Amino acid sequence: MYDYLIVGTGLYGAVFAAEAIKKGKKCLLIDKRPHIGGNIYTEKCCGINVHKYGAHIFHTDSERAWNYVNQLVPFNRYTNSPVARYKDELYNLPFNMNTFHALWGVTTPEEAKKIIESQAKEARERIGDNPANLEEQALVLGGKDIYEKLIKGYTEKQWGRRATELPAFIIKRLPFRFIYDNNYFNDAFQGIPIGGYTPLIEKLLEGADIRLNTDFFAAREELSREAEKIIFTGLIDEYFDYCYGPLEYRSLRFETEILDTDNYQGNAVVNYTEYEIPYTRIIEHKHFEEFGSYEKHSDPGKTVITREYPAAWQKGDEPYYPVNNEENNALYEKYKALADESGVFFGGRLGKYKYYDMDDVILDALADTESIL
Ligand code: FAD
Ligand code: UDP
Repeated sequence: MYDYLIVGTGLYGAVFAAEAIKKGKKCLLIDKRPHIGGNIYTEKCCGINVHKYGAHIFHTDSERAWNYVNQLVPFNRYTNSPVARYKDELYNLPFNMNTFHALWGVTTPEEAKKIIESQAKEARERIGDNPANLEEQALVLGGKDIYEKLIKGYTEKQWGRRATELPAFIIKRLPFRFIYDNNYFNDAFQGIPIGGYTPLIEKLLEGADIRLNTDFFAAREELSREAEKIIFTGLIDEYFDYCYGPLEYRSLRFETEILDTDNYQGNAVVNYTEYEIPYTRIIEHKHFEEFGSYEKHSDPGKTVITREYPAAWQKGDEPYYPVNNEENNALYEKYKALADESGVFFGGRLGKYKYYDMDDVILDALADTESIL
């Protein structure tokens, strides 16, 4: 008999298990996938740690989260600096002086601000002070050049809808940086575990029993009998048999290829911002760990790339992103009320239906274990 049956070996389930084991509890973890780690799982191919479910960069302002992962495995100093490709033009992200120089040839912050403000003013005069959708919001914040080249196509692919049909709030805080700095994140700490994320999960799961290829819903009764309590990190709506209707998610399709070259695109992440190209970005995995490092572990003459295609979600597809709009959040609250009465504890991105980053998941799991264990 186990103290806890933890459904899902993703980051939430693994942190929960590690903390429970520290307190002397016996944990059984199950996962329907053939591997541990959920969406942060990495797998070696040609000596390269491949992020199987999309680019994962650990970034946080929380010293607690940063120390937590660093005491498990060593991290490198990777700094995410995606490049945006629009037709044959290349721009640095996030929007900063390098981007503005490439767009308009300006060299000083004053010149850049002048252009952005004049384009934004033009948009405000047309649209007014209450933008009704994402397109209007982006135009009044940053003007047409940035919107048309760097936002519109990418956003419409990502969300599967026209920018005029998307809510303004998604892009309410468009960050502009008037310095030459291509670091995508503002957080104090950032990096990638050397050796990928799977060893981090393995470390967290030391001492736990694990059963892979095991779907909770295929043997719900039997599995539940094996433990005192259940921690569930799958879909909260599926757990309750979609009784109030399904929550909405966005899905993705990954196309991974091994190429016979050392260096395909010169950067870990290149965003394709034009609508006509069906993928949003290409990840070249080796650069997450080899960027700026003299230590090369990958097979010479080989690289692995992944194209990321956004996709509509239907029952049965992988639910990568919760769509946290008002309607879905209200529906989630109904499921949450059922969850509170069920005696089962729901955690993680799918269990809590929140667009959590990895640091949020760790902090949330630590807070939950402190109150539950
Ligand atoms: P998951 O990783 O989804 O784990 C849930 C597990 O439960 C899965 O393994 C699943 O197979 C299993 N499961 C579900 N249902 C069942 C069932 N019925 N029976 C058995 N097992 C089940 N965060 C960052 O901080 N930085 C990033 O750069 C970043 N990039 C991302 C890019 C993409 C494309 C995506 C999708 C997410 C990204 N994230 C990023 C977020 C990050 O992936 C999550 O915060 C984190 O993985 C969530 O962990 P979790 O344990 O809650 O969920
Ligand atoms: N975005 C954009 N162009 C880009 C990158 C991002 O317009 O080149 C917008 C887009 O609307 C996207 C949002 O910014 O949904 C957040 O993007 P980010 O890559 O930060 O989020 P993630 O997809 O990792 O959650």
